[in-house]
Amino acid sequence: MNDPAVTDCIFCRITRGELGTEFVAESEHNVAFRDLHPQAPVHVLIVPRQHIAALRDVGSGDWHVAADALSLAARVAAEYGLHDGGYRVITNDGPDAGQTVPHLHFHLLGGGKLQAGLG
Ligand code: 5GP
Ligand code: ZN
Repeated sequence: MNDPAVTDCIFCRITRGELGTEFVAESEHNVAFRDLHPQAPVHVLIVPRQHIAALRDVGSGDWHVAADALSLAARVAAEYGLHDGGYRVITNDGPDAGQTVPHLHFHLLGGGKLQAGLG
């Protein structure tokens, strides 16, 4: 673990359990925890255990990690009772999208009427 991008990455540290963050769910390749600054009544981050900087950086052999993340998002949504009202899953890739943490993650948002716009 000598890669500084991984050693210093806040989400790598969280997924390794170094910061004591409570996981609301886990799967083989991802963990789920509440966003520090929630933008909806339910705002959970789905984060791969391995360091992948953004969606564009998913390697050809690693798409099962992203699939596992989406599967976990749907499971967490069910556990939070969101399947009736609905929910949104998004990922920000790069500055135009407002990505602030350079470790792939999916936002699960729900628990109330969400803003209509996506852009
Ligand atoms: P981005 O803007 O990169 O798509 O999303 C990063 C998200 O991570 C933001 O919503 C921000 O609130 C959240 N975040 C950043 N640092 C931490 C942290 O240390 N703990 C938690 N739980 N969320 C964080
Ligand atoms: Zn990382």
